[in-house]
Amino acid sequence: MTGLVTRFAPSPTGHLHLGHAASAFQVWDGARAAGGKVLLRIEDIDQTRCRPEYEASILSDLEWLGLDWSGPVRRQSEHFDAYAHILEALRARGLIYRCFKTRREIAAALPAGADPDDAPYIGKPVPPTEESARLDRGHPFAWRLSLCAARSALGPRYKALAFNEETPKGVRTVPANPGAFGDVVLARKDTPASYHLACCHDDALQGITHVIRGEDIREMTSVHVLLQALMDWPTPLYRFHPLLLGPDGKKLSKRAGDKGLRAYREEGMTPGDIRAMTTAA
Ligand code: GLU
Repeated sequence: MTGLVTRFAPSPTGHLHLGHAASAFQVWDGARAAGGKVLLRIEDIDQTRCRPEYEASILSDLEWLGLDWSGPVRRQSEHFDAYAHILEALRARGLIYRCFKTRREIAAALPAGADPDDAPYIGKPVPPTEESARLDRGHPFAWRLSLCAARSALGPRYKALAFNEETPKGVRTVPANPGAFGDVVLARKDTPASYHLACCHDDALQGITHVIRGEDIREMTSVHVLLQALMDWPTPLYRFHPLLLGPDGKKLSKRAGDKGLRAYREEGMTPGDIRAMTTAA
């Protein structure tokens, strides 16, 4: 066995579909080829969308596919304290600020038509007296990572941020561009830790050396590299796999009702059939 440690990190917001299976095969094949191991992490931070029955279904589908993981499953919802601790460390260093803006206010500050949940927004902290008054009145807020504060904290390291990507032709260094994401949200009232925060914390804690993930998260890796630099967490080696697309050319999605592995299982398909479908598509 080599020192390669990777992970599969599904969110239990629905049943696994063929796209997840394709991704899981990439992760396990990568680990097996290198004699490494796969850890399983359940990314169930968003308690409004995640459900225990989906987690049970994910574990059962992975076992059925013959994909076994090392050690216990890490369930992010059991570690809110750890994420709160990181937020506090970032707050103490002036790297995050409370943003009280509503979605509508953020949308108004962005170019017309931009999605306030996705578009890069750059804000600033409100003055301390206004902040106390808003907190007293119970106004909801999000913790945002201040790009400006991050730039000054890292100095010349900010411009040099990069990650190594493993491609079929070898390893290449990709410059990171966290500025494209603005001041990202790291926590909010109903989600005490964002995906970025929990994912980077856990990759570091779990000693992940290789992250094998879909192309759709390539750009966002820039935000992860920034968090890793700020927290002195190691940056794993990244590998991005192409996404399995539906007949309409769009990414498969639980929300769009793409057929779950469960349904294929009930129709009598075998794990081999599933693998064939993920490679033939
Ligand atoms: N929970 C994320 C997903 O299901 C994990 C992505 C990743 O960091 O690899 O897309």
